[in-house]
Amino acid sequence: MTQAAIRHLREYVAIPSVNPMGRDDLPADIVGEHRYAAHLREQLRALAVDAEVIGSGGRCSVVAEVAAAGPARETVMVASHLDTVPVDGMEIDPFDPKLIGGRLHGRGSCDTKAGMAALVAALEHVLPRGTLRRNLIVVGEADEELHSVGVRDVLRHLGSRRPDWVLATEPTEMRVVHRHKGVVHIRLAASGHACHASEPELGRNAIVWLSRAAVALDELADTLARRADPDLGPPTLSIGLMRGGHAPNIVPDHAELVADRRLLPGESLDQVRTQVEDALARHALQEAVHIAACTLEKPTLGTPADHPAVVDCLHALDSVGHEALRASVAFGTDAGVFEVESVPGVVIGPGSIRRAHTSAEYVEVDQVEAMTDFFVALLSGD
Ligand SMILES: [Zn+2]
Repeated sequence: MTQAAIRHLREYVAIPSVNPMGRDDLPADIVGEHRYAAHLREQLRALAVDAEVIGSGGRCSVVAEVAAAGPARETVMVASHLDTVPVDGMEIDPFDPKLIGGRLHGRGSCDTKAGMAALVAALEHVLPRGTLRRNLIVVGEADEELHSVGVRDVLRHLGSRRPDWVLATEPTEMRVVHRHKGVVHIRLAASGHACHASEPELGRNAIVWLSRAAVALDELADTLARRADPDLGPPTLSIGLMRGGHAPNIVPDHAELVADRRLLPGESLDQVRTQVEDALARHALQEAVHIAACTLEKPTLGTPADHPAVVDCLHALDSVGHEALRASVAFGTDAGVFEVESVPGVVIGPGSIRRAHTSAEYVEVDQVEAMTDFFVALLSGD
């Protein structure tokens, strides 16, 4: 079974599935999830599982619904994203997997093809024995690294056939992650009146007004810093971009900034927007500065510790003799995107997020083994 998981992982790493992340300069033969999705469909069909490839334009996801061998108490979705980040500047051959000293190297080895390899190896063990105790939806979704288009494609495909909960595989070093922060981007725009810089009193300087707004946001950031979550720390607000003006001798009529706001579970986009509006109002800036956009880039994850997704995963880890630990992490995942769609869940997988997206990405073989044993226990245990 372990051998099978590593064999599958080698196959998957050798199939490029790069998310172009908005770029158009990448070779066509490495971009898109379609080759990997087609490979998985054939592998699942060989197990008599009716898998389908959905999506378009090479940005494909794979979905398969598997009924339990007997009466099932619930339906669990396992989602393992198919895309990897690009491969520029890698120190290793990204698509030639190499096993060195207990580590399997290659792009996607850790983030997150090892999770899918462990799942398929576990299914090869469980399905022929007829011991699947939960209804299962196997998902390999496209585009986790950018816009999570795959999650929406998958849920549209499933319609009303929603799982009770989802397990998203990501490198958590086999800890059961049930909470993470989310990301909102706030764009502020200041509008002024242009005039010659020799008579600035005739105009309204958009850069000056926007600078006052930046100070207002910084004060808000200080307030947020006092509301720390014991596991995740405080929500944060950081201004990352500011631009405006045309020339030194023109009073600028436009300026804008973009701030990055990290949310704690339970905070909403509306709350974030209201806080910024209040901050602008406190400094009487509304006349010249407005919120041009306030968008949720990555949702939070906030599954209660006593939810069956958490409890059952901890139990499965424990039953295979692995340390059973709950955790909160700083990075966002598709589990948060599923939560927005009313599907609660957890994140667990082999490898460390510190190895993800790196120039010498690898995953520890013993963690892939642990994930395979874990899946067998979760899917066939009670
Ligand atoms: Zn990932």
